[in-house]
Amino acid sequence: STVIKDFDPEIYSAMNKELKRQQGNLELIASENLVSERVIQVMGNHLTNKYAEGYPGKRYYGGCEYVDIVESLAKARIEKLFGAEHSNVQPHSGVQANMAVYFALLQPGDTVLGMNLAHGGHLSHGSPVSMSGVYYNFVSYGINKETELLDYEELEKIAKESNPKMIVAGASAYPRTIDFERISKIAKEVGALFMVDMAHIAGLVAAGVHPSPIACADVVTTTTHKTLKGPRGGAILCKKEFAKAIDKAVFPGSQGGPLMHIIAAKAVALKEALEDTFVDYQKQVVLNAKALSETLNKRGFKLLSGGTDNHLMLVDLRNISLTGKEAEKVLDEVHITVNKNAIPFDTQSPFITSGIRIGTPAVTARGMKEEEMELVGSAIYDCLVKKDGQAAQDKVKFLCEKFPIYE
Ligand code: PLP
Repeated sequence: STVIKDFDPEIYSAMNKELKRQQGNLELIASENLVSERVIQVMGNHLTNKYAEGYPGKRYYGGCEYVDIVESLAKARIEKLFGAEHSNVQPHSGVQANMAVYFALLQPGDTVLGMNLAHGGHLSHGSPVSMSGVYYNFVSYGINKETELLDYEELEKIAKESNPKMIVAGASAYPRTIDFERISKIAKEVGALFMVDMAHIAGLVAAGVHPSPIACADVVTTTTHKTLKGPRGGAILCKKEFAKAIDKAVFPGSQGGPLMHIIAAKAVALKEALEDTFVDYQKQVVLNAKALSETLNKRGFKLLSGGTDNHLMLVDLRNISLTGKEAEKVLDEVHITVNKNAIPFDTQSPFITSGIRIGTPAVTARGMKEEEMELVGSAIYDCLVKKDGQAAQDKVKFLCEKFPIYE
């Protein structure tokens, strides 16, 4: 049978249950989003059959004339969207993009300054369990214990002491605007290259609701599936002078054939991102995060740095005597999906944690606005503080039915 339901009922059933889960849950994981039906359509098709090692016009395989059109469009669109001189849309993921940049511009053992994972940085910014931390000598900067904001003065001090070849900025769990200009000045001062991993905030940057790193960074990496609202994947943007080195480091350096069906889906998502409605969407993501943080504050939750400037917030649960692990579990039971997350200076292990990370990209994609964030906040309160799971679940059901997806 060509019908998946008949040929492979096990996979069909799991896929169907996952669809139901997405439809019936409030998705508050800050790194997730909902792609359009258009993007889904382009992601799964015959483009997967094509080998296209190389780049448009310079492939190692015949028959690439049409996939060349696809990749050229994706490149032109991402360069236009961010105002970048050069792009590479082939990285299979955000980590692949980061590793390619390190491979292109560093030698093994070089010193690199990146944001502390425990303060909101990403594994691929030098964690000892990541290739990045094994092959390069990462030194870390973080946030100030009092202000709970990025400590730029300390960053400058560490940069002067450690004399890095590269400084990496960007985060997975930092709720405030990052001053890329300021870090770029520090990088210049110490003669370091400046890389920004804007994975989390790429959509906000595209829409102009977070300052862009493009002008002040040598290289910018991103994922395409977070706030940017595209298919799962990565991309690299850079100045012309690094174009050759970056392209070589992606292919043949660290990947083989590009996923042309995913690159086509990236192109479609980027076309959507160039529309005016995308700017409205990103503005609403930030407004919703603000509204949700205020309503949580009002209900006695303690947020890192007191609130948010972007799409996410970190809730410190110590004042309500719950761990991140416990909160994630009970919220899951009422169909609210978040992830446990270490808070800076956390005394719990990364598997337990004292916090949760909450983001608004996916619920905003469903059409929810500030008014609904009030209800989301009260559902979280019902669940975690009042211990009234039924009340929380009723609110979730109401919201999911009012804002349906993938019907
Ligand atoms: N960079 C940052 C800042 C991230 O937050 C993430 C994902 O969480 C990544 C990179 C990794 O992306 P991927 O999971 O696509 O490899």
